[in-house]
Amino acid sequence: MTAVTRKNGRSSKALHGRLQQQLLKAKNQYGEPSGEALLELVSRTYDELDKQLARNHVEEFLDAIQCGIMLVNADGKVHHCNRAAFEVLGLTPKPNGKSFNIADALPKLASLKITDRRDRFVAEIEVAPGRHADIHATRTTSGMILTVKKAEYDSLRRNASFMMEEEYRSLFENSTCGIYRDRVDGTPVRCNPALVKFNGYDSEAEYRESVSHAQTNWYVDPNRPTQFHQMMKTEGCVKDFVSEVYRHRTREKVWITENAWYVRDHAGVPVYIEGTIQDASERIATMAIIEQQANLDSLTGLASRHRFLNALESKISDGREAFTVYSLDLDRFKPINDLYGHAAGDFVLKTIASELLTLVGDHDLVARLGGDEFAILHHGDDGDGKVTALAAKIVSLLRKPLSLKGHNLLVGASVGLASFPAHGQDSATLLGNADLALYKAKKSGGNTFCIFDAELRSGLQRRLNVEDELKSAVCDNELELYYQPVVDAATGSVQGYEALMRWHHPIRGLLPPSEFIQIAEDAGLMTDLGNWAIKCVCHQASALPTNIKVAVNVSANQFRSASILEALRTSLADSQLDPKRLILEITETVIMSNEAIADTIFEELREMGVSLALDDFGTGYSSLSYLQRFKFDKVKIDRSFVSGMSDSPANLAIVRAIIGIGNDLGIKIVAEGVETKAQADALITEGCPLLQGYYYGKPKPFTEVVNDLGVQRLQILQSFSLEEPIHLSARPQR
Ligand code: C2E
Ligand code: CA
Ligand code: CA
Repeated sequence: MTAVTRKNGRSSKALHGRLQQQLLKAKNQYGEPSGEALLELVSRTYDELDKQLARNHVEEFLDAIQCGIMLVNADGKVHHCNRAAFEVLGLTPKPNGKSFNIADALPKLASLKITDRRDRFVAEIEVAPGRHADIHATRTTSGMILTVKKAEYDSLRRNASFMMEEEYRSLFENSTCGIYRDRVDGTPVRCNPALVKFNGYDSEAEYRESVSHAQTNWYVDPNRPTQFHQMMKTEGCVKDFVSEVYRHRTREKVWITENAWYVRDHAGVPVYIEGTIQDASERIATMAIIEQQANLDSLTGLASRHRFLNALESKISDGREAFTVYSLDLDRFKPINDLYGHAAGDFVLKTIASELLTLVGDHDLVARLGGDEFAILHHGDDGDGKVTALAAKIVSLLRKPLSLKGHNLLVGASVGLASFPAHGQDSATLLGNADLALYKAKKSGGNTFCIFDAELRSGLQRRLNVEDELKSAVCDNELELYYQPVVDAATGSVQGYEALMRWHHPIRGLLPPSEFIQIAEDAGLMTDLGNWAIKCVCHQASALPTNIKVAVNVSANQFRSASILEALRTSLADSQLDPKRLILEITETVIMSNEAIADTIFEELREMGVSLALDDFGTGYSSLSYLQRFKFDKVKIDRSFVSGMSDSPANLAIVRAIIGIGNDLGIKIVAEGVETKAQADALITEGCPLLQGYYYGKPKPFTEVVNDLGVQRLQILQSFSLEEPIHLSARPQR
């Protein structure tokens, strides 16, 4: 008893209470206890009390420790948690030290680590927003001991953010770029003065107040918010996101560019959205100007090629209605530019542009594709005839002369049409087909329009094939010169020959020039073919009697290229042909398309000593001034006059006049296409000195000419002492 009293009053009271309970219990069970049993009862009670006291001591001791301590059973029950631990974890102490479930008190820790099988581990958990605890766990036989401390980093973090805040406050306050931090749900947390001002408010508080309460739309485009959040979700950020938005207060629309990113907690969960916002109005305005420039033709104000192609693409992808592409090309724009200068050219283009606009409908698009090329996108196909009616109107409008400073400028236009979907279902095909139709319109003399049809394309395919095959025709010895006699009207004897090209096509057989000369000219192959003809003519002519002259035709491209002079010089030198025996036949069109250089070339040709004939006289401009200016030796009256002589007195009069002029100027006149005796007689009566035509002989191979003239074989072989076998015979045997 003394021992009990010695401890303290509270303990002896507890002992008495305890003894009383025990005695009562013993009495009820066994009746009045013996002395021995009483002693045993008292000593057991003393033992139990000691244990309780020891436990109280331990608890007092644990509570005095600054570090938080938790004793956890294997089943996750906390059977002791000291005061420091309750404090750090922000938990309320349980009454009478009652045990509690760790999973209920600290779900984060429980879910993270309590099931961990390791004997020790360390974890950091957020116990309240911005507040963290470091937890060290040690596994024991009966459960775990956890020590709990305030996370060291918290204070470090606070210090660092304070320093950062100070350092960057000025940047935040003074930036002209709007900066903000919102909660993930969009509630504003912070924003800088620039953003406040941008939205038309005077203070951050005012802004936050209005923005939090007003559920107003920020983006003008209703799809923008979804796009923004989608990007945030997938990328975690948004960069250079350009949108039109409403300023919050005034609802004024403005273009901005924004950047945004998530601020996450340590577990990676987004807590805030931060971002910057900048006015992009200037950038958008510049982009608009650039776009306008790209879409407009600056000279005429019409749509540009770029805009036309975009419009065409979108009409095709829309695919709902038929429409027609007009490809338009001016017939005589270049001469106007060359003759009257670029200002006149610009005037023509501008006038035509505004006239075209008056002809088309509201939904049609008129564009200048470049140079003197225009295009129209017209709604509808030709089902109702409106498409052709518009084309006819365009052609007749542009056929009228434009007046500029007292000059009447005749421009004229050719138009090609292709309709969607009948003539093509993609832009390249449609434009290509409209161009093919345009090409046909041009070929038929201009000032007209043409609608695409499938035949045009197969014609083009044929042309392409011919072009391909022609490239190898010279090397493969497929070309040959045929010779048609020119006779002296007075004596009827052969005075010379005209060399005319033939192509031995490996599949199609013998082809006349009409099947390939124009194609070769267009494909830029005629210079080579023409120079080959010069070479061949010189060598073959040198085998013929010296009184025989030989004529060869010259194409426009060949005439233009300096290589004709070179080809003539070498061929004449190699063949030893007297230049006087060689005649170059040149048409007016060839001269006209090379007007600027014609004088120089003619001078060189004259110096070389070759003769010059003006071919097809009467079909072109029949410029008499050319006769004098270029000093032709011969003029060939076109076949059309000769054949029409008997029916039309006008034709006879023309033939007579040409012969008269020839006599006066000392130029020999050749009548072409003499087919009948009557024509020959009439021409002889009119005094035409030279005659050529089927009546006197059709064009024939060189070998036949040689036979006709009785030329010795040796003579032929001598004239062909050439390295290149191609010229040895008219057409070598294969
Ligand atoms: P061209 O220079 O006017 O040649 C005369 C054409 O009229 C030749 O046609 C000839 O065969 C044809 N002809 C001659 N007499 C008569 C006749 O009585 N009746 C008829 N109906 N026709 C007659 P071809 O050989 O078909 O040549 C056609 C054109 O091809 C030539 O017209 C010439 O412009 C061109 N050509 C021919 N060979 C060459 C060449 O080597 N170089 C160049 N650049 N053009 C050539
Ligand atoms: Ca000719
Ligand atoms: Ca001719």
